Amino acid sequence: MAALQPAGPRKALPEVSARCTGCGRCVAVCPPRVLWLDLKGWKKTAVLHDAAHCTGCAQCVPACPFDAITMKRA
Ligand code: SF4
Ligand code: SF4
Repeated sequence: MAALQPAGPRKALPEVSARCTGCGRCVAVCPPRVLWLDLKGWKKTAVLHDAAHCTGCAQCVPACPFDAITMKRA
């Protein structure tokens, strides 16, 4: 029978809130470079582009000066 969850432990993924100012610090510290800045309407915001390659390391969380990132279990 097919597994409903992918193999391995479930990891937490970063969620970016509306507090994001688009400063790019989280993008700079992400080791696998899976966070990018995207235009959302008129402002830039951090977006997780490749959840499969996010390691869940949470280094992006303390890098954010605006407390805009929280780790949420997928
Ligand atoms: S948790 Fe780690 S790998 Fe995932 S986006 Fe943040 S810094 Fe990058
Ligand atoms: S560090 Fe924080 S404010 Fe800056 S781009 Fe990342 S989430 Fe947005």
